[in-house]
Amino acid sequence: MAEIGDENTGVEHSSDFAAVPDAFQRLWTPHRLVYIQEGQQPHIDECPFCLAPSMDDEKALIVARGTHAYVLLNLFPYNSGHLLVCPYRHVATYDEATPEEIAEIGSLTQVAMRVLKNVSHCDGFNIGMNQGRIAGAGIAEHLHQHIVPRWALDSNFFPIIAGTKAIPRLLGDVRREVAAGWPAGD
Ligand SMILES: [Zn+2]
Repeated sequence: MAEIGDENTGVEHSSDFAAVPDAFQRLWTPHRLVYIQEGQQPHIDECPFCLAPSMDDEKALIVARGTHAYVLLNLFPYNSGHLLVCPYRHVATYDEATPEEIAEIGSLTQVAMRVLKNVSHCDGFNIGMNQGRIAGAGIAEHLHQHIVPRWALDSNFFPIIAGTKAIPRLLGDVRREVAAGWPAGD
């Protein structure tokens, strides 16, 4: 039986609580609340990737800031530790980025991979950019590179039968862990 608040599963058993037990387990996914309260995207007038750098790191889920680009956690992760690398400038597509922005997006991506390997022991990555809404970009107006850590057996049937992705870690915890693992000066 899982312990209450089990770090590995996030599942709590009703029999662990002083209440009327039932047959169900609970999978706590508080980050999903934003979907329920706000719909698929939060209602933000300003571009969220332009807004984030003006906020504090914890609130904006920023893990590292460079000169031309910065790294933050995706509010809608495909997996725990799903990072985004964004230029500070509001440009939509890769061909609009300057050589300096391209170079720093590349170097921050490398550091992010090393940090994720160290702190999460992932087995692989999906890295890429969706260019334009038709290509799947959620925020098509502001360039962002996805870095999605992958583990063996990290896929299950949830996304297929329930349209739901189970994320076992809370965003704030992951942000602190990745930020703490980020090397000084990068
Ligand atoms: Zn923007």
